[in-house]
Amino acid sequence: MYAKVFSACLLGMQGVPVEVEVDYRSGLSHFAIVGLGDKAVQESRERVMSAIRNAGAQFVPQRVIVNLAPANIPKTGPVYDLAIAVGFLIATEQVTIPTRKVAFVGELNLEGKVLPVKGILPLITGLLESGITDVVVPAQCTQELTLIKGVNLYPIDHLQEVLSFSVESLGALLSSSDKMSTQAAHTTKFEDIRGQVLAKQAMLIAAAGGHHLLLSGIPGAGKTMLAKALPSILPSLSEDAVLEVAAIESVSAKSVSRESLYSPPFRSPHHSISVSALVGGGTVPQPGEVTLAHRGVLFLDEFPEFSRQALDSLRQPLEDKEIVVSRATHSVKFPADFQLVAAMNPCKCGYYNSGVKPCSCSAKEVRSYREKVSGPIWDRIDLRVIVSKVAWEELTPSKQELTDLTSAQMAAQVIQARSRQLSRRGSSTNTLNSQIHSKELLQVIQLTPAAAKVMQAAHERLNFGGRTYFKLLRIARTIADLTDSEKVHDVHIMQAMQFRAEIN
Ligand SMILES: [Zn+2]
Repeated sequence: MYAKVFSACLLGMQGVPVEVEVDYRSGLSHFAIVGLGDKAVQESRERVMSAIRNAGAQFVPQRVIVNLAPANIPKTGPVYDLAIAVGFLIATEQVTIPTRKVAFVGELNLEGKVLPVKGILPLITGLLESGITDVVVPAQCTQELTLIKGVNLYPIDHLQEVLSFSVESLGALLSSSDKMSTQAAHTTKFEDIRGQVLAKQAMLIAAAGGHHLLLSGIPGAGKTMLAKALPSILPSLSEDAVLEVAAIESVSAKSVSRESLYSPPFRSPHHSISVSALVGGGTVPQPGEVTLAHRGVLFLDEFPEFSRQALDSLRQPLEDKEIVVSRATHSVKFPADFQLVAAMNPCKCGYYNSGVKPCSCSAKEVRSYREKVSGPIWDRIDLRVIVSKVAWEELTPSKQELTDLTSAQMAAQVIQARSRQLSRRGSSTNTLNSQIHSKELLQVIQLTPAAAKVMQAAHERLNFGGRTYFKLLRIARTIADLTDSEKVHDVHIMQAMQFRAEIN
C-alpha cells in the first residue's frame, strides 16, 4: 500500500514543504529512507518502529520504502519522524487518510512521545505559503506558534493521538497572540546607574536613531551595565518583527526562551567566538549571533579582543543587514539587522589617559590596540563615548536627582523621537536617522543658517572627511528629534560633536 503525507524542511530561514511517501509491500524485511537525508533522518527508522509499537499500533517488518521529496534538498534532523510514522500507519491501514492536505512536524522518542523540533516557526510559515493550512505539531511548541495567523494547528503529545485521527477530532489551537505578555521585565535599568550623564545621553540617542555605539573606558567604569540597560529603552517589536525574531530563535533552539516575545533580542557573545558562530555557518547553515541579534542589540564587550577575522566578518551584515552563507549545493540568507554596541578599554592595560592609574603600554602598543578594529568596521560606528569612572559627587543623592532619568522616561522619549523620524519621511519607509543615505540626508536635515555655519567652522578646524561630516549630521538630526525640534540648530551640532570622542 502507498500513502503520502506532508512535512517540511528548512533551507536557511525558509521552510519548504516535503512530501513524505511511504510504500509498504510484502516481502523481505527491509526499511529504507531515501531523499538526501542525513544520519538523524536515517536513524528515524529505529525511532519510528519503536514509537509505533509503543503507541499500541502494529509494525510488521516487511518491505518499507520512505521517500522524502524533493530529493535535491538535503534533509536534516528528526523533524520527519512523525510524518513517517503517520505515513506508515496510513499505508498499513491503521489510520484513515485525511481528505485534505495535512502536514506533520515533530520528533518521536521510542516511547511514542512527540517532541519539539528546531525551526518550527519557519517550517509552518513555509507550509502555509504553499497552501497547506492544517499542521499537526508537538504540543510543547505552542507559545511561539500562536504568532502565526491563518493556520489550523493540532498540538499532540503522543503518537497514540493520531490513531484516532481525523482533523475534526483533534482540538485546533486558536491564534491568541494577544494573550502573551508584551512587556519585558528588564533586569538592568538606567535608574540603577549613577551619574554617567554623557554616556546615558549617548544611549538615548543611539536608541532613538538606531545608531551604532562604542563605549571606551577603564575597567570597572560601568560600560557593560550601560550596554545592558539599552534594551530597557528600546521600543517593543512590531507584530511582523516578533514573528521574524521568534522564527530565528526557533531555528537555533527548539523553543523560544526570551521572557517576552515582544522584547528586542540582546546578544553578548564572548570575544573568543569563532567566525561561524558570530555570523553563521556550519555544513547545514545555522544562524550566528548577528542573526540572533536581528531587530535587537549585538553587544561586543572587549571589542579589540575579538579575532581580526571575526571583526572583519561583521562588515557584510553591517552593510547589507543580512548575511549570505554559501555552500556547495546552495546558499542561504539570514537576516542580520542589528544595532551594534561595542565596549573597549582604551589600551591593553586599560588605563591609557585615565587619570586614575598610569598606563603601562608603549605608545605603539596603545595605537596597535585600537587598530585591531579595522577602518571599515570603525567607520560604521556613529557614536563614540568615553566612560569615566563615576566621581564621588555623582554618587551623592542630590546630584543624582538632577541627572538621572528612569528607563521608562527615556523609553517614552525614544518612542516620540522615532515617530518624528518616521512621519517626516512618510509611511513608506521605517528607516531611522542612522540609516538615511547621505544624499537623502541633506534633504531631510533642515539645518538652520547658524547650524550650517557651525558645521562649516568645525569642518575647517578639524578637517574631517565626508563620512564624519554625515555622521555628525545624523547624530544632530536625532538630537533635534529628541528635543522635538523640526530644524537642526547649532546647539544640536555642538552636542553631536561631544559624541565623536577620539579613542586614543
Ligand atoms: Zn595601557
